[in-house]
Amino acid sequence: MFVFRLLILLVLAYFFLLIIYMFFFRKRTERLKRSQEHPDQEQELVRCFHCQSYLPKTEAVSSHGYYFCQEECARRFVMLRNQEVSKVDNNGSSR
Ligand SMILES: [Zn+2]
Repeated sequence: MFVFRLLILLVLAYFFLLIIYMFFFRKRTERLKRSQEHPDQEQELVRCFHCQSYLPKTEAVSSHGYYFCQEECARRFVMLRNQEVSKVDNNGSSR
């Protein structure tokens, strides 16, 4: 009798775990499916360091560790930064 009761308990526990597993598994697959259906919404946006405009990371130009919307912005940023650096150097040497 004790063995019979234990068997029922085991079967119940098995189904209980199965339901929990299915619940979590379905949630995970739904989330996976959703991200596959809308890849555009998941796409990361980056900001051009020079003109502050937002654009998809795949279309951005990466330079000096920053993102730019086009080569022109990257060039201007480098030009401005070089001016800043030379200004700082002049200040440092005059003191
Ligand atoms: Zn730009």
